[in-house]
Amino acid sequence: MQSNFDIVIVGFGPVGQFAANVLNQYNLKIAVIEKSQDIYLKPRANNLDDEIMRRISRFNDFKKFKNKASAPKFIEFNFPNGKNIQRNSVKKTSNGFSPVNMFYQPELETFLYQNIYFSKNIDFYFDNELIDFKKKSKELTLTTSSSDKKTNKIFKTNYLLACDGAESFIRNNLGITQLDLQYNKDWLIIDIELNRGVSLDKVARQICDPDRPMAFLYTSKTKHRFELQLLAGEDPDEMKSKDTISKLLSKWLKPSQYSIERREVCKFKAEKANLWKMGQIFLLGDAAHQIPPYAGQGLSSGIRDVVNLCWKLNLVINHSLNDSMLESYQIERELHLEETIKSSIALGKLIDSLGMAYRKKIPLADAVAPEAREQAFGGSKSNLSKDINPGIYFNSLEHNYAGKLLPKFKLKNKLDKEVDLDDLLKGNFAIISDGDIKKYLNEKSIKIFKKLNTSLINIHEYSFKNAEFREIVKSGNIIVRPDLFIYGVTDSENNLNEISNQLFDTLSLN
Ligand SMILES: Cc1cc2nc3c(=O)[nH]c(=O)nc-3n(C[C@H](O)[C@H](O)[C@H](O)COP(=O)(O)OP(=O)(O)OC[C@H]3O[C@@H](n4cnc5c(N)ncnc54)[C@H](O)[C@@H]3O)c2cc1C
Repeated sequence: MQSNFDIVIVGFGPVGQFAANVLNQYNLKIAVIEKSQDIYLKPRANNLDDEIMRRISRFNDFKKFKNKASAPKFIEFNFPNGKNIQRNSVKKTSNGFSPVNMFYQPELETFLYQNIYFSKNIDFYFDNELIDFKKKSKELTLTTSSSDKKTNKIFKTNYLLACDGAESFIRNNLGITQLDLQYNKDWLIIDIELNRGVSLDKVARQICDPDRPMAFLYTSKTKHRFELQLLAGEDPDEMKSKDTISKLLSKWLKPSQYSIERREVCKFKAEKANLWKMGQIFLLGDAAHQIPPYAGQGLSSGIRDVVNLCWKLNLVINHSLNDSMLESYQIERELHLEETIKSSIALGKLIDSLGMAYRKKIPLADAVAPEAREQAFGGSKSNLSKDINPGIYFNSLEHNYAGKLLPKFKLKNKLDKEVDLDDLLKGNFAIISDGDIKKYLNEKSIKIFKKLNTSLINIHEYSFKNAEFREIVKSGNIIVRPDLFIYGVTDSENNLNEISNQLFDTLSLN
């Protein structure tokens, strides 16, 4: 039998890898169980959003990955004749990164694995497929099997993270059903490597073709992806044959100009699990949801699950907080996820209706209102909110900062040295105040925050230029959650002791 673990992560795809990286900072004893012999070395996801890049940027050696990822210059929507419908230039957001970051998945996975490869907190068990799990009082017993079926291993743990993908054995075994949000289409995915001297536009382009919607995506350096929707009755094997592919790509490239790295027909669905937590077992990533491809939110959403859950597990395991706070995981993630799926489906429908307008020669302005396009295309006016709502935050009647992610920016300390705000916040709660914290908090609150390893930041010790942050600081003192979302900002009615008390009540710390 293997020794007891605080947490076992089943599935070492990108979501399990990210969870292992985040939990590593909390000094927990973790086992990773993966049925394959190694990480998966073919591309699948190829886009991460600005928030997720910001999260990854906190890992060691981030530059190694950053130098390989790239942001397209534009996000475009075109008609099949090449006429441009809409073009959004890709600019950095308040998270410090562009909203679209293209990457080659094996490079991301290698980076995430190398970062924790030598960690003393994590034991890796590749070639171990989870085949059974049982719960006795608060302890979970897991059984794995090697691929040759000759070796079984037994693991004991208090918490189990199911990062085992869309066909999740754990979800199915628990009898957790999925809500079908009505999208089910096959897409042909072609990843190519351009030969020396050949180039294609460095854009993320949707082609609104009534005969076959498709996407043309710059991945990184010489790599590009084509995603083509399969039509009713088309045979997947025939569609992914080299002959068909060379015909489909002939508008852009001759077969002598590229090599095919991967060609696959993938079924994209819109589904979410009806339960994301059962006792001490949590579903994350594709095990909890599948998202249609249009907005490229599949992997980013899975990583958001990890970010939401891991700090809560740290508080429960390392700081003995009441585990009822873990119920907030599904509450905080589920609605956001549903909105993400709906917005992705809306974008798909918009692409289809633009294609139909093209076929029927309907003027663009009459086909779809420009605001609807802007909203669905995820441009600067996209209204898909990533705020925490509902969930753990303090609701002020005077301002609406609670539940929002802090902007990312650099401050200068008294020695004129630049520091990143995210680095000051160190993965625990933080209080950002406009003076000595003892002015605002009573002894009892200071003691509790100390126990939670809270970072206390006196903003007068720094200078900064960020206007968004200046506005928040002007309103009052800020309590920041470990995931960088604002828990609450004081106002004329509620001082720091009062909002702290509400937080302590929520965490059953009073
Ligand atoms: C063609 C394609 C294109 C995509 N494009 C995008 C995109 O552009 N942007 C985006 O954000 N997302 C995209 N996605 C979705 C993205 O790939 C997934 O959201 C992401 O891979 C999910 O990661 P995961 O770790 O949850 O699951 P997976 O990557 O599926 O990993 C699950 C892991 O669990 C292991 N496992 C399963 N069962 C067991 C078991 N019983 N015991 C032990 N191990 C087990 C598997 O071997 C696997 O390693 C795409 C998906 C596909 C198929």
